[in-house]
Amino acid sequence: MARIIDAPLTSNDGGGCDPRALHGAWGGLNAAAARGLAYTPEVKAKTDALYERVAHVVPAFEWPAYAPLIAAINDMKRAKNAIVLAHNYMTSEIFHCVGDFRGDSLQLARQAASTDADIIVQAGVHFMAETSKILAPEKTVLIPDLRAGCSLAASITGADVRLIKQRYPSAPVVTYVNTSAEVKAESDVTCTSSNAAAVVEWAAREWNTDRVILIPDEYLAKNVAAQTGVKIVAWHGRCEVHERFTADDIAEMRAAHPGLVVLAHPECPPEVMAAADFAGSTAALQNYVIEKQPAKVVLLTECSMSDNVAAMAPAVDFIRPCNLCPHMKRITLEGIYDALNEMKHQVVIPEVVRVRAKRAIDRMLALPKEKPRAFDVRRAPAAVELV
Ligand code: SF4
Repeated sequence: MARIIDAPLTSNDGGGCDPRALHGAWGGLNAAAARGLAYTPEVKAKTDALYERVAHVVPAFEWPAYAPLIAAINDMKRAKNAIVLAHNYMTSEIFHCVGDFRGDSLQLARQAASTDADIIVQAGVHFMAETSKILAPEKTVLIPDLRAGCSLAASITGADVRLIKQRYPSAPVVTYVNTSAEVKAESDVTCTSSNAAAVVEWAAREWNTDRVILIPDEYLAKNVAAQTGVKIVAWHGRCEVHERFTADDIAEMRAAHPGLVVLAHPECPPEVMAAADFAGSTAALQNYVIEKQPAKVVLLTECSMSDNVAAMAPAVDFIRPCNLCPHMKRITLEGIYDALNEMKHQVVIPEVVRVRAKRAIDRMLALPKEKPRAFDVRRAPAAVELV
C-alpha cells in the first residue's frame, strides 16, 4: 500500500498565510524549466482563458511560471485519458486550471465512482485517493505526494476501532471519510461533513439504537450531537487546521469588520460554531456564498477555499484569516505533472481491506442525495462520550 507520513509539519514546512510561499510562482518557474517547459506563444494561447479564472489571486507577472505546467498537465490528461479530482482546499491554479471535477470529499467520491477515465489524479490528501481507489479499483489512482496526510486520519487505526466496537458492541460505527481504508474497513458506514447528521440519524434507525459511534473527529461529533438528539460516542481526533479557530477570533473580526457574515466548518470547536452565523461542509459554505451574496464574509476553514469561492462570487468581499493545511499544500502543479508523467504514486489497497471499506462507503452513497445539510448554530451544545 502507498505509505504516507501523517505527522504534522513544522511552520517552515507550510505554516503562515501564503500558499505561494510554500510552492509558489518562483518555485513553479524553476519547476517548469527543470522539466523542459517554457512559456511559449503556444502555451500562452492555450492558457490565456484559464488565467481569467485565477486573475483575482495570481498576479499577471506570476502567470508565466504556472502556465507551462498547466498546459502540459492538460495535454497529458487528454493523451492518457486521465482526470484530476481537485478538493476545495487546493490552491486556485490547481483548482481552477487543471481540476476536471472540483468539490468536497463527498462530491469527489461520487465522481471517482462514475468517471470513465482510466487514471485519476487526486489533488487532495491521501485518504481521498484511497477513497477513489476503493470505489474504482480498476482505475489507476495517483497521489502526487505521499506526504499529503491528515491529522484526523493519523489519529486512529483499525485496531482502535476494533477496541471501541468491543466496548459498544450494539452501536453502529459511523466513520468520517477522513480516515484510512483500514479504519473504513472496520466501520459500518462512512459520512462526510455534508451528510454526517443524516448518516448518524439513519444509522440509529437502522440499528434500532439511540447510541452511535462517530469517529474520529471530536468536534464534528460534538457538533453533530447538537443537531441530532442521538447519543454519540466520540474519538479524540482533531483537524489541526480547524481546531485553531476560536470564538475570540470571531469577536475580533466582527469588531474590525461591521456587518461581517461568519461561516464555519463543523470541524471547528462547538464554541466557534455557536459564534458563527452559519455552519456546514465546504460545499454548504460555497452554496451559501453564491446564493446569499453577503457583502462581507469570512470562511472559517482552510484558506484556499476563500480564493476558490471568490472566483465564483466576485462581488463578495472575503476577509481571509489564514489557516493553511500543510498536507493539502503538499499537492503542487509540479507534483501533479510528475505524477502523470511518471505514473506515480499509485495507490494500492489490499483487496480484503478494500471490499470491506467499500461496503461502508457504498452504504453512505446509497442514502438519498440531498443538499449539503447546514448545522443549526443556535442549537444548545450536547455532551458526547469520549473513548
Ligand atoms: S484540513 Fe484538516 S481534515 Fe482536512 S486534510 Fe487538512 S488536517 Fe485533514
